[in-house]
Amino acid sequence: MRTDASTGPLIHVSLVAPITGLIVPIEQVPDPVFAQKMIGEGISIDPLSGTLLAPCDGVVSTLHPSHHAVTVRTADGLEVLLHIGLDTVQMRGEGFTARVSVGDHVKTGDELIVFDLDKVATNAKSLLTQMVIANSDLLTSFTARTGKVTAGSDVAAELSVAGGEVAESESKGRSVTSAAILVPNLTGLHARPAAVLANMAKKFDSRIQLQRGENQANAKSVVAVMGLEVGYGDKVQLVASGADAEQAVAELAVAIADGLGEEGAVPISEAESDAASASSKPAPRRRSDDPDVLLGVSASSGLGVGTVVQIRHQDITVVEEATDRHQERRTLNKAIDRAGVQLQALEDRLKREADPSKAAIFAAHQEILGDPDLMDIAASAIDKGKSAAFAWRRAYLVYADQLAGLKNEVLAGRANDVRDVGQRVLEEITGQRSEKAELPAGSILIAEDLTPSDTATLDRTKVVGFCTTGGGASSHVAIIARSLDIPAVAGIEPRALDIADGTRVILDGAKGTLRLNASDEEVERIKGRQARQAERRAVELAAMNEPTDTTDGHHMEIVANIGGVEDAQNAMTNGADGVGLLRSEFIFMGRASAPTEDEQTKIYRDVAGSLAPGQPLVIRTLDVGGDKPLPYLPMPREDNPFLGQRGIRVGLDRPEILRTQVRAILRAADAGARIHVMFPMIATMQDWRLAKAVFEEERERLGVAPIPVGIMVEVPSVAVMAPQFAAEVDFFSVGTNDLTQYTLAMDRGHPQLAPQVDGLNPAVLRLIAQSVIAAHAAGRWVGVCGGMASDPQAVPLLVGLGVDELSVSVPAIPSVKAQIRRLSLVTCEDLAARALELDSAASVRALVPLDDDDTTDDTTTSDAPEPLTP
Ligand code: PEP
Ligand code: MG
Repeated sequence: MRTDASTGPLIHVSLVAPITGLIVPIEQVPDPVFAQKMIGEGISIDPLSGTLLAPCDGVVSTLHPSHHAVTVRTADGLEVLLHIGLDTVQMRGEGFTARVSVGDHVKTGDELIVFDLDKVATNAKSLLTQMVIANSDLLTSFTARTGKVTAGSDVAAELSVAGGEVAESESKGRSVTSAAILVPNLTGLHARPAAVLANMAKKFDSRIQLQRGENQANAKSVVAVMGLEVGYGDKVQLVASGADAEQAVAELAVAIADGLGEEGAVPISEAESDAASASSKPAPRRRSDDPDVLLGVSASSGLGVGTVVQIRHQDITVVEEATDRHQERRTLNKAIDRAGVQLQALEDRLKREADPSKAAIFAAHQEILGDPDLMDIAASAIDKGKSAAFAWRRAYLVYADQLAGLKNEVLAGRANDVRDVGQRVLEEITGQRSEKAELPAGSILIAEDLTPSDTATLDRTKVVGFCTTGGGASSHVAIIARSLDIPAVAGIEPRALDIADGTRVILDGAKGTLRLNASDEEVERIKGRQARQAERRAVELAAMNEPTDTTDGHHMEIVANIGGVEDAQNAMTNGADGVGLLRSEFIFMGRASAPTEDEQTKIYRDVAGSLAPGQPLVIRTLDVGGDKPLPYLPMPREDNPFLGQRGIRVGLDRPEILRTQVRAILRAADAGARIHVMFPMIATMQDWRLAKAVFEEERERLGVAPIPVGIMVEVPSVAVMAPQFAAEVDFFSVGTNDLTQYTLAMDRGHPQLAPQVDGLNPAVLRLIAQSVIAAHAAGRWVGVCGGMASDPQAVPLLVGLGVDELSVSVPAIPSVKAQIRRLSLVTCEDLAARALELDSAASVRALVPLDDDDTTDDTTTSDAPEPLTP
């Protein structure tokens, strides 16, 4: 390459031929991506040799994992992409050998890739090899030579860049690489975070690559990102080139470090990263020695007793060849559009009916549907004369197989999502739809794999459980099963597929087992218990609107913990006396930007309007932080996020967020319910006073009448100083999830410590007791809104400690009410007094035994406790 800056404002650049052969105008390349210069200006060469050389001096900035494409970045910031053949990506590296790695400095004429010319000629669509300027916006002229060229010596193209603009072009179009980012997602960059990343990346014009080790993927392609097999703790880098490269890298790097909006993704340190990569081997499949017990892994807990129905997917027949490629393209596009409409409808329905995480799976499916790489493969097969159905099926199966072959179990599990989306489109193209078998009541389905779509549309009145030989505990199928409350086992021993239809089995979702030949006695015992639980539930529901008074006339308010409008409506149909905790962070999650004041006002008004007039509605201000990150609220990485910027600390650090929310809440104050405001994670009097001052300023500015303002008791310092706080706040609500973790110094989500993180520990009970005494002395009320309020062993103790209100999960409302109606205050007070004197949570639990049907024993319901985090 020759750079001549002395000729005035223009810099002239000569690119030598990267390969020996005949130059072909780029417009004649039979691939629209190159012919229509979608990537940029360039030339094509019909090669006579299998050696690709550097056309200029520079740095290798990308190298495709299949080694058929490489980019050299010049010192002037030009990105010269060299692409061997057409459709060579499908050769998956066979016949290609890279002589360089990303980051290598190369000189004109250095070897980049050698390849087997014959193999490419037989396996690819074309041998034509392209040299393209990926950031052609920097060019002021481009002249391609013609005729035969010899690699490394003949000039193949000349171009110029505006000299005065080179400096500017560096900032306009230069390539920017981020620092290494540690991926905090426990299950790596699987479909959902990959979809979030691709969506965010698409906002930028720049070309953005995600790099892991030597491999790179288009950050705008979900499938490509998934295919990069990024696991928990892996180091990745972003490489962007284009006008907005810097902004793209800055924003996306923060979003990746924060977990791309995924719950449970906590930014990690280097040490954790190293430990994670050392232990990321998938667990071996379990095998049982007992012929009557088949082992798998728990996908969704619960117990199902029923008869086997084997599910087999039917193959769709497709014709391979087609004559009119335009018609085939139209057919494919229409089928994709119809599948998109179906997925959107499914997402909307699930959003309305169930939890948003399930709906998000189908949002991720829509991303797969729009994946540019998937589409490219299908489109080029159509251009080679294949039918839409054949081309599409080959494209999605190639991708699914690539994913299935990955070492990371979770990413491999996503192959099922690609097949599900692929099958949906294929059915649309061919009009052949898989027959849904007529299921008898009490069916337990057995399949190699069910798709997320199959699972989401299961008839819950007929299906009492399912198991699959494929999949794992973190597959989307498992997530859907949990949200539908269907017992499910994944990765079951393959002999399950040989069990005859109609065989009676017991599926234990929690243990991950399928049992054959259970005795009649055992089946009867389980059915009897299930029937009694169902009967009791019906009785409790029938009484849900009766007052919750103990046998000696002490009244309790039973209110709901909710995350939004749907929960509020469900709370009402379960007999809630109001809402004791609206976790407002749910309104901020799963979005690309924070909700505006008007959006929030509408949501708070809708929630208030769902309640009976005059019922209390306690809105907790945003409770996010290092432990619950938001993609659009970048937080510095913290070593101890539970002890760092969390809850009200975030609101005080970024007062505009708190002020906007407070104004929105105040503007909903006349919407029906009695609105209260509550601040999370208060630790000091200063926290409270600063937050209260913000609230009062906004209230006075809006001219709204005073409303009650309270605090969460989640940090032991508040319980210890309860008298000082009670003198100023309007109410306390005890967050036992956090109060327990901070009192015992045990992470509430820690898998090994879980059995010990028990709010019935007398240390926690004593803090609750002293909070109640201080509050009542000052004439304030106390609620409990942590998980303890729904625990049947804790309820009598909380009543006995004098708590005024229990705020519980929506399904628990009728049973907590019924339980309190069976208790007497005098007995509860006695139990509570004795519990405070005991020395462990276990001895407190022994003091308050459960009813028989509430007990979880090994052979029946061994469901894991509800996680404490939302
Ligand atoms: C709690 O800590 O008990 C609580 C209710 O808050 P969250 O679970 O949302 O942290
Ligand atoms: Mg909390």
